[in-house]
Amino acid sequence: MRCLMCGSAIGGSADLCETLFWDDLLCRKCRKQWTADRHRFRISGVRGYSSYLYNQAFSKCLIQYKELGDEALADVFLFRERKRLRHLFRGRTLVLMPSTAEKLQERGFSHLQLMFGCLGMNMTEPFVKLPGTEQKRLGAVQRKQIMQRIRLKEDAEIPDRIVLCDDLITTGSTLRSALNCLSRDIDMMIYACAYVPEHGSGHQPP
Ligand SMILES: [Zn+2]
Repeated sequence: MRCLMCGSAIGGSADLCETLFWDDLLCRKCRKQWTADRHRFRISGVRGYSSYLYNQAFSKCLIQYKELGDEALADVFLFRERKRLRHLFRGRTLVLMPSTAEKLQERGFSHLQLMFGCLGMNMTEPFVKLPGTEQKRLGAVQRKQIMQRIRLKEDAEIPDRIVLCDDLITTGSTLRSALNCLSRDIDMMIYACAYVPEHGSGHQPP
């Protein structure tokens, strides 16, 4: 098998440890560049978890997947966390955060549906993100206004126990706006694969 990022053969090198024990879609060298960090946070009182610090290697992989359309990378993000996450999320439905219709069409695939698909759990996409709300184009004040730019689809049905899922958490404004659309009677949890520390990572999120 070949590493999905650099293309080198996994287990085919002189790296005995990789040959015998390595269970991953990336080679050891590429995976070592990711910073595993089981970070906990709260948004509007709802507890959240993430698995990685958003660094250069994560950013490169996410851009290749999300912006350059390399769908083969979908399973790379949660692969090493999949058993833990299935356990953490048990009994819950994964509620995926929305992309704008414009972005969905540009990509041709729902990147979160593919990314979280490796967990084999129930998923739903009840939100709509209105056009012109791509965060990187927005200033701080406008990001606050994004609260009005996400809404529930008219026929949306939200299960009683959910995990709000995203690839990345930056300011938390998108998640906060999603929480504002939901009843507080729902048992909620948040998960983002990576988080950007408050002082920034130096890498512009895609
Ligand atoms: Zn590699």
